[in-house]
Amino acid sequence: MKKIIVTIDGWSSCGKSTLAKQLAKSLGYVYIDSGAMYRAITLYFLRNHIDWTEKNAVDEALDNVNLHFIYNNKSLHSEMHLNEENVEYLIRDLVVAEKVSEVATIAQVRTFAVAQQQKMGSEKGIVMDGRDIGTTVFPDAELKIFMTADILVRVERRFKEMYEKNPNVSIEEVKNNLEMRDYIDSNREVSPLRMAEDAILLNNTQLTMEEQLDFALKLVAKKL
Ligand code: C5P
Repeated sequence: MKKIIVTIDGWSSCGKSTLAKQLAKSLGYVYIDSGAMYRAITLYFLRNHIDWTEKNAVDEALDNVNLHFIYNNKSLHSEMHLNEENVEYLIRDLVVAEKVSEVATIAQVRTFAVAQQQKMGSEKGIVMDGRDIGTTVFPDAELKIFMTADILVRVERRFKEMYEKNPNVSIEEVKNNLEMRDYIDSNREVSPLRMAEDAILLNNTQLTMEEQLDFALKLVAKKL
């Protein structure tokens, strides 16, 4: 059966990963969370006090970064491993979220991540979400979705998610973080967040998870 590549890009906390996971499950495809890779690199830089404004320091650091997704039978998801350590939980922390967009502006970091992402898609049958997947990683993908949602809805969703892990987090912190990341992601020089010309816009402000999955599955059916 024909397999395709589905890319899902968009603003922070639009529900990209929720849709990507559901879609991958329905199609029997692999789901890859490209943001987890930028988050794991950021965690490595923070832990090892890497001065990421220094090109050589970044090159040396990246030589020591090994990223792998390993499927967890309990969570039923692929989880991010950094140098053999499962960091899936740690990379969701606000400390990482506050620096990840800055780290993701660095050209060498993007080259490093994009090369691995492209390898993962070489056999197709993949759903990948991120910011530059339809524009840079897989410009020839068969189906590209660009997601957006009202900022207040996005803040509320992310706040709920973060509050469960850390009840000290405030809604202002979450809102500031989303706005800051969206700004940096869409204004950076290398592969800024953009809707690809051939992407389909999905605004899920008013949609349930079932409705958005249905929308995406119909798009996939047209491509198969
Ligand atoms: O998707 P997530 O919110 O986990 O991504 C974290 C950050 O990683 C984004 O805000 C962005 O700065 C960066 N990112 C990126 N390109 C991608 C995926 C994520 O620059 N393809």
